[in-house]
This record gives sequence, C-alpha cells and structure tokens, in this order.
Amino acid sequence: QKGSIEVICGSMFSGKTEELIRRIRRVQYARQNLMIFKPKLDDRYSVNEVVSHNGLSAMAQPVDNSVDIFQWVHADVDVIAIDEAQFFDGKIVEVVNQLANSGHRVIVAGLDQDFRGEPFGSMPGLLSMAEYVTKLQAVCVVCGEPASRTQRLINGEPACFDDPIILVGASEAYEARCRRHHEVPAGVS
Ligand code: ADP
Ligand code: MG
Repeated sequence: QKGSIEVICGSMFSGKTEELIRRIRRVQYARQNLMIFKPKLDDRYSVNEVVSHNGLSAMAQPVDNSVDIFQWVHADVDVIAIDEAQFFDGKIVEVVNQLANSGHRVIVAGLDQDFRGEPFGSMPGLLSMAEYVTKLQAVCVVCGEPASRTQRLINGEPACFDDPIILVGASEAYEARCRRHHEVPAGVS
C-alpha cells in the first residue's frame, strides 16, 4: 500500500507553494507521473500555473469542483499535487482520501487559517487525515518574528471579523504577521 497524504500548511508568504514546487521538482527528477491541480477561483498570478510569491511556477490543471479531480487522474499517475486547498468545496477531504486509498501519493498545500485566524474550510479535515504534516511560518512584517497568521488590509486598515472570508489577493491585501501583531477588529469593514 503506497498511497499517502502530505499536507503543507501555514499563513500566506510562509512558503507553501515554494515547498510544493520543491517536492514537485523531485518527483520530476525521479521521472514519476505527476498531476498538479489548483482551484479555478485562484487566478492571482496565472490561471493554469501554481505560482509562488518569489516567482517559481509549475503548470497546473484548474478545476471548479473537487470531484472533477477524479476525471483527470488515471491509474498511471504516481503523484497528485494540489495547491490552495482551502478554496475547494467540502468534498476535497473525501477526494484526497480516496486518491490516497487508490495508491497515489497526494501532496496538498493550503492556508490552515483564514484572515481572522479561524480554521480555513476543509483544511482541518485534510490535516487530520494526513500521514505527514508540514507547518511553515512566514516572517512578521511588523517585528520580524515567525508569523503564523495572515493579516488582511483594506485601504491599509485591518479587515474586520465579519468581512467575507474569501478575497483572492496578494501583497496589496495581505501581510504575514505573528500572533501579537495580527489584528481583527469586531464588525464589518
Ligand atoms: P505561500 O504559498 O505560503 O503564500 P510562497 O511559496 O508563494 O508562499 O512564497 C514564499 C516567498 O514569499 C518567500 O520565499 C519570500 O521570498 C516571499 N515573502 C514575501 N514576504 C514574506 C514574509 N513576510 N515572510 C516570508 N516570506 C516572504
Ligand atoms: Mg501559495
């Protein structure tokens, strides 16, 4: 039985996509068959690539629904990589679990917390299913200490607790911050 689940989690800018691409490169060196997926929703840098904030990239299949992943994965696929897993619907946990049960190595990267510091979507489910978990930290832009959280800013001000959870963006809307410097005012911005 060679199937397994690896989860790479952490805040924005913690290096999740960088680490995912590092593992992808090793799979390519080993000449194993690989499929990379991303949610269609994430069109920040590119529609059909996963892209890290420091400019690394790899071609990826954009998908709308997590169950659509099945139609792309054939038996000869060794490794399945999925980025931005927090954006997928609730079925992603079952999809990833079934892929691992079928013998695939599944590597999943995603935000473990939303901008409020709350568990993000299906990530808790994926983390509990995984054989291997890597939690990365960014650098707090305020103090330089390790940052576990993602600060959302609206016109330079901290976004409020009741704001929508999904707002696709990069450094114009988000910063990495530590627990002490992460701010979430009550209410709506
Ligand atoms: P993630 O996928 O977790 O959002 P990426 O892999 O896309 O992260 O980007 C990681 C890169 O972001 C780092 O290697 C670094 O070059 C850059 N970066 C920018 N701001 C920060 C920060 N505050 N802390 C750490 N890395 C940062
Ligand atoms: Mg990323």
